[in-house]
Amino acid sequence: MSAFLLAWGEVVTGVGALVDEALEVEPVGGSSVAWSASRTRLGVSPMPEPTRQETCRARKQTRGAPVTELDAVLDAFVESRRELVLSMLTPPQRTVALQSLETLLEHAKAHFAAKSIEVVKRGLFKHAKVAASKHQYGTSSRPEVYVMECPSCRGPRQTEALTCVFCGSDL
Ligand SMILES: [Zn+2]
Repeated sequence: MSAFLLAWGEVVTGVGALVDEALEVEPVGGSSVAWSASRTRLGVSPMPEPTRQETCRARKQTRGAPVTELDAVLDAFVESRRELVLSMLTPPQRTVALQSLETLLEHAKAHFAAKSIEVVKRGLFKHAKVAASKHQYGTSSRPEVYVMECPSCRGPRQTEALTCVFCGSDL
């Protein structure tokens, strides 16, 4: 059980960290040491040069790596952890965990898509700008923004469930 939650926590944190890395890429459509390292580690080929810039321009991106590259990296990361996450679970728990992985991916991709086209308003104070550019999750501070979790065991949770499939608590 705790081994599962540890693995689950690492997936949530890892997805957030990758989104952060992709958003910090400068200039738009470029790359960074951290970002190319993650891409290589996960076996995702970089999008070729002229295309990177063109797709970012077409989407009016204001920051970050190309969105298709981010999507591929997130898919590869979750795929690389899926077996480990599921291996410790019973079939009903697996169903919930699989749905939660899908939700996690969807939310992370949507978050990047929105943040990468955000126009940073001019004239904000520096601290406000920094605050505005940071999203609420990405580090481990608030992973529940992605996927609801059980208040008792912090296991992933789907809205229909009335009882936590991981620890049996009422939700
Ligand atoms: Zn629970």
